[in-house]
Amino acid sequence: MLRLPWFDYRAPRTVAEAAKILAGEGPQAMLIAGGTDLLPNMKRRHQTPKVLVSLRGISSLKGISNGSAVNFGSGLSLTEIVQHGKTPVALRQAAAQVATPHLRNVGTLGGNLCLDTRCTYYNQNYEWRQAIDFCLKKDGDTCWVATASKRCVAVSSTDTAPALIALGASVVLVSSSGSREVKLEDLYRNDGIEYLSRKPDEVLTEVKIPSGWKSTYWKLRRRGSFDFPILGVAVALKMQGDVIEGARVALGAAASRPFLVDKAGEYLKGKKLTDDVIAEACAMIASRAKPMDNTDMDLYWRKEVADDFAGYALRELRGDDMRETRLRIARYAV
Ligand SMILES: Cc1cc2nc3c(=O)[nH]c(=O)nc-3n(C[C@H](O)[C@H](O)[C@H](O)COP(=O)(O)OP(=O)(O)OC[C@H]3O[C@@H](n4cnc5c(N)ncnc54)[C@H](O)[C@@H]3O)c2cc1C
Ligand code: SF4
Repeated sequence: MLRLPWFDYRAPRTVAEAAKILAGEGPQAMLIAGGTDLLPNMKRRHQTPKVLVSLRGISSLKGISNGSAVNFGSGLSLTEIVQHGKTPVALRQAAAQVATPHLRNVGTLGGNLCLDTRCTYYNQNYEWRQAIDFCLKKDGDTCWVATASKRCVAVSSTDTAPALIALGASVVLVSSSGSREVKLEDLYRNDGIEYLSRKPDEVLTEVKIPSGWKSTYWKLRRRGSFDFPILGVAVALKMQGDVIEGARVALGAAASRPFLVDKAGEYLKGKKLTDDVIAEACAMIASRAKPMDNTDMDLYWRKEVADDFAGYALRELRGDDMRETRLRIARYAV
């Protein structure tokens, strides 16, 4: 049995109190929301905080407001996100495919956005990692995926981030010295170790999602019942009749960060979703998917199917009936 190490547990009631504790404790403290990512990581000694600052008792992180944008508190569970009537489609589809029902009841939106990156050589217990002399991401000197690399290329595996990036979301980060709002795509860095631009003393409090976009999320994973994504394709379109006024395409699980495929978004603007336009956009999207050999399934195949998944997304937004394909792939008719 894997046991948790000892830690101090702090239970603030406000964001200001949580931020103050983080600032006072420094790098030995970490936030914990649902704990569905952090606690397994602590058991495997990936992350070794001495102090956990719980967000569970902070009721303001559970807020939902709805005006020209839908604002979700970072402490809402993924189940609450799935069930809320104003949740944009891509976000609902992404959240509904995270983990299992139990984990979605506990896991939060904020925790999902700040999820640790993953790798075959890292997501193992301590003894397994010790047997390979650890790796660059934790306790070692070598990256076993790219031995000449000085950078860890562990994979961003959050489902909701690509969906929210496509939707043009931004997040609010609060520390004891103030607050700032950043576009969600700027929260991420293409570095498997320092994968967030969030400062250690900042609490992600809120996710702001502009309205008026049609959106969809397609997830590749081995098992439909539950599995981390090995590719996520999210597309959001703003339509003027059948002409595309705005387009945002984001890829997940294809690098150490989820990212926008700007070229495809630009290309789609002003066009109608004909078969030729879809094929051209898919080629642009697939060319940006450069998966590494550090997660499930064959990397060449994962790269190949990026084109298909982009096509599913665009055809679904065109209005094609993709229910059968979605059910076959996602095992969910969401
Ligand atoms: C078996 C299994 C399968 C899973 N499958 C998937 C999957 O398919 N897709 C997927 O995306 N995830 C998956 N997960 C991971 C996890 O369950 C979810 O990502 C969940 O949403 C994490 O949220 P949490 O609240 O539990 O995060 P926690 O574990 O509490 O925290 C995760 C990280 O975020 C930080 N954090 C949490 N909240 C905040 C905040 N408000 N501000 C700043 N930092 C914060 C923590 O310090 C920690 O570093 C899976 C987990 C398990 C165990
Ligand atoms: S990509 Fe390399 S450094 Fe990063 S977790 Fe994997 S083996 Fe370790």
